[in-house]
Amino acid sequence: MSQTLTPEIIKTVPKVLLHDHLDGGVRPATVADLAKEFGYKNLPTTDPIELAKWFRDNCDSGSLEKYLEAFVHTVGVMQTTAALERVAFEAAEDLANDGVVYAEVRFAPELHQNQGLTLDQVVEAVLKGFQRGEETMARNGKPIVVRALLTAIRTAARSIEIAELSVKWREKGVVGFDIAGKEAGFPPTRHLDAFDAVRRANFHMTIHAGEAFGLPSIWEAVQICGTDRLGHGVKIVDDLSFQSNGEIKLGELSAYVRDRRVPLELCPSSNVQTGAAKSIKEHPIGVLTKLGFRATVNTDNRLMSDTSMTKEMTLLVNELGFTLKQLQWLTVNAMKSSFIPFDQRLKLINETIKPTYAKIAQELGIKF
Ligand SMILES: [Zn+2]
Repeated sequence: MSQTLTPEIIKTVPKVLLHDHLDGGVRPATVADLAKEFGYKNLPTTDPIELAKWFRDNCDSGSLEKYLEAFVHTVGVMQTTAALERVAFEAAEDLANDGVVYAEVRFAPELHQNQGLTLDQVVEAVLKGFQRGEETMARNGKPIVVRALLTAIRTAARSIEIAELSVKWREKGVVGFDIAGKEAGFPPTRHLDAFDAVRRANFHMTIHAGEAFGLPSIWEAVQICGTDRLGHGVKIVDDLSFQSNGEIKLGELSAYVRDRRVPLELCPSSNVQTGAAKSIKEHPIGVLTKLGFRATVNTDNRLMSDTSMTKEMTLLVNELGFTLKQLQWLTVNAMKSSFIPFDQRLKLINETIKPTYAKIAQELGIKF
């Protein structure tokens, strides 16, 4: 069965993306273009092909800290409203061309103020780009809905401001709040006030947790911060014990996460690059799917990992034997876990995702 699921076919299935960083998905040619346009001199090379390779190689080091260094260059060229709008527009275009029908793309407004933009200007420019991307791709017959998550940097001290900013823009395209950056030594509880502000406003949040750091970080994010979803959460696997008879026992935390249907924003390629997983074959998404966790598959950083939703799904099919039905399951999981209103989620599931999967299954002669 996996033989028939080629990357070409996988590209045509509807996909839902919940974990994708705007500054981690810039086209290499755009990084080079913008650097030239705005006089940014620090790029390791200005050749787009060399640049694409540099990003991938630099991020292959097996350390989250080193991985994060590469963002200096993309963020370095995203300091004007024109640059931000362009990058956002291109993200919408690239995702729609990859078969993504719904995406939540995140960015940290505070990183785009080097040339004096206000936080509101940053958000406005990105949302404008998404909107223009949605309009263009609808005209091209590849409709996509793109919403924004605003990220605060966990090593900085502006999380309340960013949480309030995300609530302020809730009716205009921002659907949630996130926190990201170096995990070790910076537990989510440092930003409790921000999460409280989000919760008090009945708004949504996801927290990067359980990527570089283990169970305590996941526990804090879920039980103390009250997160709706876990950004990565892959280390939840540390709470499973594999018995000699093949049985898998869940610890209290992993049982809670599974039973409460806390969505895991899993990013296989990124996890292998940062050392959170040894290989795709050994990536916990296989076992977490088997155990019925609310698993979703995501790109994290398309530029740094040289990936796309099609590539991630193809890896799952080829390395872990995922079936078309399981790809649909991951997609429906993601749609259910999104931050748009429930009726809109259902509409995408029932009118776009399920009918298209059924049609593809029929064409491939797969019993669904
Ligand atoms: Zn991330």
